[in-house]
Amino acid sequence: MEPIKVDVAVIGAGPGGYVSAIRCRQLGLSVMCIDKGSTLGGTCLNVGCIPSKTLLDISHKFYEARHHFEALGIRVGHPEIHIPGMMERKNKVISELTQGIQFLFRKNDVSCMQGAAKFHTPHELHVTLPDGQVQSVEAHHIIIATGSESTTLPHIPVDEETILTSTGALSLENVPSRLLIVGGGYIGVELGVLWHRLGSQVTIIEAAEEFLPLMDKDIGAYGQKLLSKMGIHCRRGHHVLGVDRKEDGVLHVQVAPAGENHEKKEAIEADKVLIAVGRRPHTHGLGLEHIGMPCDERGLIVVNASNQSVAHTHIFAIGDVVAGPMLAHKASEEGIMVAEHIAGAAPSVLAHHRIPSVIFTSPEMASVGWTEQKLVADGVPYKVGRFALSANSRARAIGATEGFVKVLAHAHSDEVLGVHIVGSEASTLISEAVLALEYGASSEDLARICYPHPTFGEALKEAALAVSGQTLHA
Ligand code: FAD
Ligand code: NAD
Repeated sequence: MEPIKVDVAVIGAGPGGYVSAIRCRQLGLSVMCIDKGSTLGGTCLNVGCIPSKTLLDISHKFYEARHHFEALGIRVGHPEIHIPGMMERKNKVISELTQGIQFLFRKNDVSCMQGAAKFHTPHELHVTLPDGQVQSVEAHHIIIATGSESTTLPHIPVDEETILTSTGALSLENVPSRLLIVGGGYIGVELGVLWHRLGSQVTIIEAAEEFLPLMDKDIGAYGQKLLSKMGIHCRRGHHVLGVDRKEDGVLHVQVAPAGENHEKKEAIEADKVLIAVGRRPHTHGLGLEHIGMPCDERGLIVVNASNQSVAHTHIFAIGDVVAGPMLAHKASEEGIMVAEHIAGAAPSVLAHHRIPSVIFTSPEMASVGWTEQKLVADGVPYKVGRFALSANSRARAIGATEGFVKVLAHAHSDEVLGVHIVGSEASTLISEAVLALEYGASSEDLARICYPHPTFGEALKEAALAVSGQTLHA
């Protein structure tokens, strides 16, 4: 087959790759976006953000209808969850969104191809097509956006039937009576809440001393309290040593406190086990070794601040395969940044600590900027303003009083350094905090804004006022 020649080849059509391909084309570059999957959208659309948020939303509505509607004067009988119907809805959303990328590719004249890409030379990829044929793609620039995959534990092999990764846990055919989750991070907490709401008895085993160890300590602590209050069993500082399958099919999960002393080992019974101990960069099969592209000890591709390979300056890497939070919006922003760099435009600079993160539980937990423990560790002088949602009128009106807004500002300059929110609309409210950080706003700036009433925005104002001890409603 004749080689295809383009300005830019993008490997991977997740939120990093597909956005980068569109931006490259908008800037006048010819592009070929290659993905080995049968649908576009990568982890995010197919087995990550979108299916998990769809199912979280359904489970939230079900839980509300079953447990809270009566108190609002709404009588709906005893609602039942129909898992096939729920999964059908999830698949429909995935299908609409993945087809939406096809539409965007057509609209922007981006070429794409299904196949597994491998470096043959630094400028040439060999793409193995679904029929086994190999197509050569030659490009002036190559963007690697191959994402990540679930980290597994060698002593607990995954079969996606009883021992699951997030992919299996988002496609279950029934509600497992007992679900044990290894890892109390993003996936453990979100999928734990999801299946708990649908009726599963959920236990989460976290190796670290805190749940959500990378979030601000107040969010981690609040999050764990919240899980326990819901009825999810949480074990911190514990490891899973192994899983025995009994004749009746029940899993006996051997759990012990972290460390060498296994005398306190105990067995917890479960029907399914979800391994959610992080994700690792997906670089195998790319042939990076053929072209001398280095990866670090975690397997991440080594790039400079412009996401450019130092070994080959025409190759860029973005998203989950490089350092930084493994989040879809981070991947997309890096995709835009490298496209603009390649096209010679003025690219924006992405500061990792200003990338917001959200955990889509109920209430939601959202963060941007530095955590309080990071400011303490770095010796940065800071002030804290905090406001409980129980004093916010909107929260009271809709019965969503769990949570708080916490603003961290520099003790001398008053610049906002971090905002951490637990609350019903934290995922929306955090965007305003992102803007504040991006524009170097002070807590006084945030406090002087006129917010609509009654909204959660007023809680952000009150937390900003609290930085200087001027809260009005507490
Ligand atoms: P990916 O989305 O992983 O895409 C990589 C693509 O590369 C894949 O389509 C793959 O088929 C392709 N590929 C790999 N190797 C090759 C090859 N050799 N040749 C051709 N193609 C190849 N993030 C959020 O921001 N918000 C969330 O709510 C959220 N929820 C999540 C929930 C779950 C359960 C999971 C697992 C993840 C979640 N994430 C979330 C993380 C988010 O999905 C990732 O950060 C994001 O998808 C990374 O984008 P990416 O473009 O780097 O890679
Ligand atoms: P994670 O890094 O968020 O959490 C993994 C947790 O497992 C950590 O708390 C860690 O201490 C713990 N752990 C590690 N080894 C362990 C062991 N042997 N036993 C018990 N606990 C152990 O990873 P994740 O939850 O698997 O999610 C992967 C990534 O996907 C996240 O880091 C995030 O970037 C992304 N994600 C994002 C969202 C979101 O934005 N809402 C949702 C899901 C996933």
